Amino acid sequence: MVETADIVVVGGGCIGAAIALHLAEKQAGKIILLEKKSLANGASGKGIGIIRTHYTHPVLAELAQLSLQSFHNFAERYGGYDSGFNPSGYYILVGEDDIQTLSSVVKLHQSMGIDVDFIDLDAVHSAIPALNLNDVAIAAYEPNSGYGSPPQTTIAFAKRAADLGVDVRTATPVKEIKLDAEGRIERVITPSGEIATRTVIDCVGPWARQFTEHLGLNFPVDTVVEHVVVVERPPEFSQPHPVVSDLVNLCYSRSDANLPYTRIGNSNPQRHADFLLEDADDFHGQLFPDITEELTQKLLHRYPILETGKIIEKYSGIWAITPDYQPIIDRIEPVPGLYCAVGFSGHGYKLSPIIGDLVSQFILGETNPLVEKLKMFRLSRFAENDRIKSEFSYSQAKGLR
Ligand SMILES: Cc1cc2nc3c(=O)[nH]c(=O)nc-3n(C[C@H](O)[C@H](O)[C@H](O)COP(=O)(O)OP(=O)(O)OC[C@H]3O[C@@H](n4cnc5c(N)ncnc54)[C@H](O)[C@@H]3O)c2cc1C
Repeated sequence: MVETADIVVVGGGCIGAAIALHLAEKQAGKIILLEKKSLANGASGKGIGIIRTHYTHPVLAELAQLSLQSFHNFAERYGGYDSGFNPSGYYILVGEDDIQTLSSVVKLHQSMGIDVDFIDLDAVHSAIPALNLNDVAIAAYEPNSGYGSPPQTTIAFAKRAADLGVDVRTATPVKEIKLDAEGRIERVITPSGEIATRTVIDCVGPWARQFTEHLGLNFPVDTVVEHVVVVERPPEFSQPHPVVSDLVNLCYSRSDANLPYTRIGNSNPQRHADFLLEDADDFHGQLFPDITEELTQKLLHRYPILETGKIIEKYSGIWAITPDYQPIIDRIEPVPGLYCAVGFSGHGYKLSPIIGDLVSQFILGETNPLVEKLKMFRLSRFAENDRIKSEFSYSQAKGLR
């Protein structure tokens, strides 16, 4: 007998797990979450986990602010599970060219009720004496932001979803979505059997292009390798430090909670084209030449004291980018019953709680002003030449920082 489900969520990253959980909270029927390998096998397994509200676009800032509130109340909100959230604080540093942009963004955020303010460079220096600020013009500070653990959060979402009745299956790749004679979804095919369903939520992240190719769909989602260097801080700099978003040097860094380690990643969009993969399955943890050395040099520039630190690890993960670096969240009209939430690039983790909530509402046909805002992420924006843009842009970081 063919198994049935009301909704099949495909992809066990933070986005798929969050959507499955929020659907279960809303009692959306029998939900099966299918993950081809293990939970957090993709981007969510390697993310550095920065959680901040700093976005030049007001809708992204609003979503980030709502998610941040969920991270602050995570265990209470999600059945006692821990996301690994550490509200370490978040500094954003800019050079002369970006004074106006940072000023405009901070003012915008303050008008939205976000807890952020400019901070004197002497105060930044007092908070993190190891920071070299000689090329920084101004800084802002978000006291409530910080970082969490993307794999831990993904597992927390999945466990809570399972508690609420979601059937979470790992090692179960969806090989194909079969349609009926009218072109509606009829079932999904996995190596361990078929599941009859009318609704599939595509949350396969960097695998988005390949996943629905057999349905004649073409998702503009590319796979980029993102690198991280981990350095052990010397004893004289052993205290954890807040997250630092360095828009002068185009990198970000944060410390670990329990070990004297600092992690650094790239935020130079110009480099992404160098790290593209044809297919997400081509990723095997490879490091592209030069970038880890470049990151190490950026780290030493910003924290000269780390010259005496020890490189502990260099690693990479993949993320899914779209032409405007923003996700595609939509109902895919040519295939009735198919929804997607893919292409979250470098910010899917921090947005995952609110995306889980809003996408579940969208799928269940609920409407309210926030759900309406998801229209901004529709797939057709690329064909309509209506990419998501912001009124403000940083000189080098570009995009929608
Ligand atoms: C190094 C690095 C640093 C990052 N830093 C940050 C940060 O500081 N802050 C932030 O917010 N974000 C950050 N990100 C981005 C963030 O991790 C991603 O945006 C987010 O994890 C995307 O989640 P996802 O669920 O959409 O995709 P993924 O986590 O990639 O999940 C997709 C899942 O789908 C599964 N899958 C694929 N095909 C199938 C199939 N056919 N059947 C079943 N399952 C399938 C995959 O195995 C995978 O587990 C970072 C990412 C990386 C790599």
